[in-house]
Amino acid sequence: MFDLDVTVVGGGIVGCAVAAEVSRLGLSTVLLEMESGLGRETTSRNSEVSHGGMYYPTGSLKARYCVAGRRLLEEFCHEAGVDYRECGKVIVAVQDAEIPELERLLALGQANGVKDLRLIDAAELITMEPDVRAMAGLYSPRTAIFDAEGATRAYAQLAAERGAQVLTGSRVTDLDRHEDGWKVTITPTGDRRREGWRHTSRIVINAAGLWADRVAALAGIDIVERGWTQHLTKGNYFSVNNAHDGRISRLIYPVPPSSGLSLGVHVCLDLAGQMKLGPDLEVMQNDPRDANTSAGVFDLDYRVDPGRQASFYEDARRFLPWLEMDDLTPAMCGLRPKLTLTGFRDFVIQRETDDLGGLINLVGIESPGLTCAPAIAVAVADLVREMEQG
Ligand SMILES: Cc1cc2nc3c(=O)[nH]c(=O)nc-3n(C[C@H](O)[C@H](O)[C@H](O)COP(=O)(O)OP(=O)(O)OC[C@H]3O[C@@H](n4cnc5c(N)ncnc54)[C@H](O)[C@@H]3O)c2cc1C
Repeated sequence: MFDLDVTVVGGGIVGCAVAAEVSRLGLSTVLLEMESGLGRETTSRNSEVSHGGMYYPTGSLKARYCVAGRRLLEEFCHEAGVDYRECGKVIVAVQDAEIPELERLLALGQANGVKDLRLIDAAELITMEPDVRAMAGLYSPRTAIFDAEGATRAYAQLAAERGAQVLTGSRVTDLDRHEDGWKVTITPTGDRRREGWRHTSRIVINAAGLWADRVAALAGIDIVERGWTQHLTKGNYFSVNNAHDGRISRLIYPVPPSSGLSLGVHVCLDLAGQMKLGPDLEVMQNDPRDANTSAGVFDLDYRVDPGRQASFYEDARRFLPWLEMDDLTPAMCGLRPKLTLTGFRDFVIQRETDDLGGLINLVGIESPGLTCAPAIAVAVADLVREMEQG
């Protein structure tokens, strides 16, 4: 006899969307988040863009879930009253040699099912964005910005309305085999007066974001052998002097770097209209997860090196000729759980079998993970349904 049907580990946007989707199956569900609030890690440290889906190889999970997730996210935000603004985006070619890359992304986007993409020339770009200089652009009118933490809380609220328990300050510190499911050990974080506890759960869903490889290891998985080690890389942002607010009305991206590891430093707009640049890609020398704290939650290194200002300035000046170096101030950063530092790797969404049966692992959920979250949740609920049917 199990205490619970489903335990979701991690209260970022993915875990909360999964809990909302799974709890509608009528299964007793708990969501466990180690921080004192939901969405405090990567979910609140990013560009908050609902992406179109034109960058990823056709047929990959990233491409499929991005296209499906964008639509689901837009619907959900409208229904739940979460801010969602379809501001649109332009990927710009600053020299003729970059135009074939726009054409490649157009073809890839169309093959992936991205709607309303089109190439624009320099004259049209000037009428749309008079303060951006480029030779041509790829315009994606459906790309949007949204309140990612607000959406995360709304998914958690929906899960709670459907009967799920949502517990913060609760860190999963062990996963042991129990009958056909799992014994889950929880250590409270923050408030040291609370006792830890154990419960049994038929199904455990690992949605632990930056920690997903380590949670998989708790269950006895050899993450090195599976190629599931997550290499944390920083994405830094610099804010632009708010005297320039309103000069740009769409998200402006460069042609992506050939490394394939990031989309390149771009103009981000937040819902209040403030402009920032980022994220770049900084490989970290030490794994920040190895730093210990006494409170049970680990302090990750979210400092932004002010010395990166010059390279942000150089990157952005290519299409924002009016920008001055002292317009930029270090703002914030997020961490990406990368499965490779060379080229493309897809998300891992895996239902385990045999000795690990009852466990579903979500590993390497980097960008476009916000956009994909609702589609990942539907896919995970389908796996749970399959498990229920034996
Ligand atoms: C710089 C940057 C920019 C990005 N921009 C975009 C963008 O514009 N659009 C987009 O679609 N995507 C973007 N992404 C990607 C997106 O932010 C992530 O893919 C997404 O937030 C991942 O959500 P998550 O729920 O998987 O992870 P997280 O938000 O990290 O949530 C995982 C949660 O699990 C908890 N947890 C971990 N271990 C345990 C444990 N043992 N017990 C209990 N709880 C635990 C953590 O505290 C955390 O809250 C960006 C990412 C970065 C870094």
